[in-house]
Amino acid sequence: AREAVLAAVTGPGMTSDGHAVPLLANIGGPRDVDAALKYGAEGIGLYRTEFLFLDRMSAPSDEEQEAAYLDVLNAFPGGRVVVRTLDAGADKPLAFLPPQEDEPNPALGQRGLRLLRAYPQILNAQLGALARAASQSSAKLQVMAPMVATAEEAAWYVAVCREAGLPSAGVMIEIPSAALRASDLAAEADFFSLGTNDLAQYTFAADRQVGMLTALQDAWQPALLDLVALAATGAAERGKPCGVCGEAAGDPVLACVLVGLGVTSLSMGAPALPAVRAALSRHTREQCLLAAQAALAAVSAQEARAAARSHLPGLA
Ligand code: PEP
Ligand code: MG
Repeated sequence: AREAVLAAVTGPGMTSDGHAVPLLANIGGPRDVDAALKYGAEGIGLYRTEFLFLDRMSAPSDEEQEAAYLDVLNAFPGGRVVVRTLDAGADKPLAFLPPQEDEPNPALGQRGLRLLRAYPQILNAQLGALARAASQSSAKLQVMAPMVATAEEAAWYVAVCREAGLPSAGVMIEIPSAALRASDLAAEADFFSLGTNDLAQYTFAADRQVGMLTALQDAWQPALLDLVALAATGAAERGKPCGVCGEAAGDPVLACVLVGLGVTSLSMGAPALPAVRAALSRHTREQCLLAAQAALAAVSAQEARAAARSHLPGLA
């Protein structure tokens, strides 16, 4: 019993009936690695690389990038590290990489992968530095693109990554069109990672930076849960994993629901890991499935949460 308690505190993520759900950390750079290790992350599910590019008028050198990536890879020997290539624009503006024309709506503008397609030399430099770092480490490097809207974009990104010698290339699902056509995107990409922050923003047409609109940023909204289910189903059809790396993954109740919807790994800010690990360890996969079905049948975020909780008795 003592071993079970300890595993629930620090061990790998799994439901009480032994269904594994890797629990990973979101980081903004090497400085966040200590917290990820302290809270028992099994790897990194989202390495936001924007920090390397902030507050400067030119891209960081190849050597600087390689060192920053290698630092993180070396912290997880044998483990998984998912690095997101540069996600510039909108809520992550970069001085040296402005959109090519004035944008009245930056969140709907040339951002994320769209911007990197306009500046392929920046993507190629980043992928090259990542490939060199990976060759010096036993960690399993996976790269992923932000702000992917279509299967054509996914195919383009994966081809560029393959060319750079990177064996695992995935896409973030954070635009509703990508979730709606999940099966098409999963045919191209090696894995999905759902960005529920932007997915909520684009689903409800509610700017994530506007505090008045937080009710529409709630990942418990049934429309958002529908899109998560679509994405997970599309990925499963093609035999591809589908993680979540948005804020939603760090809510212990919602984490159980996400697993019930077919999500295969959860990545979050490190301090959220213990509560999510504990919530999973107290419920079977079947209970997660029932909680997910109940949440999908609800008509509001509040109702979805209450309905899910009624199937998850192990939560305080
Ligand atoms: C998201 O959009 O949910 C996400 C994980 O990415 P970011 O918050 O960095 O946009
Ligand atoms: Mg995002």
